[in-house]
Amino acid sequence: MGSTFRCTCGDDLDAAALLVSATGFDPSLGTLNAPCPRCGQWVTIRPRGGLIEVGYVYSAGSPHFEAVATVSAHALRVEERDDDVLVIDLGGRRWEHTFPPREQWLWIRPGDFALGKPLAALRLADTDVDVLALDANDGLELPIDTGEPLSHRHRIRIRGTTGARRRAAHRVSTGR
Ligand SMILES: [Zn+2]
Repeated sequence: MGSTFRCTCGDDLDAAALLVSATGFDPSLGTLNAPCPRCGQWVTIRPRGGLIEVGYVYSAGSPHFEAVATVSAHALRVEERDDDVLVIDLGGRRWEHTFPPREQWLWIRPGDFALGKPLAALRLADTDVDVLALDANDGLELPIDTGEPLSHRHRIRIRGTTGARRRAAHRVSTGR
């Protein structure tokens, strides 16, 4: 393991050079795409505590990251938050990469805490999702502030990070 990665153009890239222009965080692989500052060739990197793996993504069924080299970076600290946020610290330089929030439907299932309660009682905003819509699975949108008790026919459209959407689903199901 060295402290640099040699690009095909011959430039030796250290951790800071790899991190400074990295974009395109993929939370499922923990990877970023980084262009070489000299020739612009893209490499895929996976920052870890104390090191950066450099490699490529291949698809065999589902995508995998394959490391072909490792760049040591003693001061590198990496933290993942809420599944969708990657915070990288390298000796006081800091980068934050956020995967865009996504939308999904939450369905009310038999036995769910949400059954018989108005939407407001779920306090979904506390789970950090945005509540976008409510309907009774009949294509007719209900007002978000309806006091109507939820039934198994209702579904709730939300938007948020992976972690926030998981918390919201847990709230609908258990009330916690
Ligand atoms: Zn290069």
